Amino acid sequence: MSSPIPGDATVGFIGLGHMGGPMAVNLAKAGYTVRGFDLVPELLAEAQAGGVTPVGSVAEAVDGAEVVITSLPNGRLVLGVYRGDDGVLANAAPGALLIDTSTIDVDDARTASAEATAAGLRHLDAPVSGGVVGAAAGTLAFMVGGTEESFAAAQPILGVLGARAVRCGDSGAGQAVKLCNNMLLAIHQIGVGEAFALAKALGVEDQAFFDVASVATGTCWALNVNCPVPGPVPASPANRDYQPGFAVSLMNKDLGLALAAVEKNGVHAELGKHAGQVYGALNEGDAATKDFSVVYRDIAEKSGLTTGTEATR
Ligand code: NAD
Repeated sequence: MSSPIPGDATVGFIGLGHMGGPMAVNLAKAGYTVRGFDLVPELLAEAQAGGVTPVGSVAEAVDGAEVVITSLPNGRLVLGVYRGDDGVLANAAPGALLIDTSTIDVDDARTASAEATAAGLRHLDAPVSGGVVGAAAGTLAFMVGGTEESFAAAQPILGVLGARAVRCGDSGAGQAVKLCNNMLLAIHQIGVGEAFALAKALGVEDQAFFDVASVATGTCWALNVNCPVPGPVPASPANRDYQPGFAVSLMNKDLGLALAAVEKNGVHAELGKHAGQVYGALNEGDAATKDFSVVYRDIAEKSGLTTGTEATR
């Protein structure tokens, strides 16, 4: 039961969007037989060009498959494709390993796991970080919740799709870590934006602030890699009109899940709640599709500062 998934296994892949499409193709290229299903015909055709066999239903995708991977927008849809006569639970082979790579609510992940176990299947919640670039390059980082046995069995698959997989605990722990990390990331990105704005208001060059803070106690990914001002980090989204990267809309989604957990568990997370308000407001405007580091531009504009990013808006 716990032996690693064989290299010639059949994988049912449901959800061939920005993340799922390239992941399914990478598995096909690695030698797995991949049966892909999505509601969007164009995405089926794209996946087919990459070696995935397109099928017309969830049931067809999972029939006889040793592994079933889902990459869907939310928990309601994940439970939706799991349930019902046509769903994963009713049609997957006994003992099949379900790996849900979607970012969803912790409780939904635990529900999915419990229903999978009751159906005689194995389940891992395995949300990712690394974005579309990581999905295409096979360098995603997986945060995994589930049994040690299932995690061990999944290693060959996770090794194709990602560069790193950490088992964070039992069912739901992968989602929990993902939500906590992204709440922290949102706070960092806002803090970095405020610090650049204050530095500018005090007459300090962006580069000078960066040169010190990036190697001092203010160092963090939101500054060193996702630097929100153009210049100091040439590859950061600020240098290309904040093209994502990680879009405001996706950060807003993850913060919504994190803050629902904050409320439910009575956690005193004032900065997380503030970050939720900031990204909720940004998501209402034309910044929704921009990289989430665009929050700096918003802070600078509200501070009456000239940043050099306005002209490209
Ligand atoms: P996406 O919207 O591009 O892809 C989701 C796909 O699911 C769509 O193609 C949609 O047609 C399909 N789908 C919806 N309902 C379906 C159903 N019932 N049956 C079959 N297919 C169905 O989203 P994405 O950006 O690929 O994200 C997927 C998941 O990964 C989300 O949970 C997201 O939060 C997470 N994620 C995304 C990123 C990113 O940078 N895009 C990064 C980390 C995590």
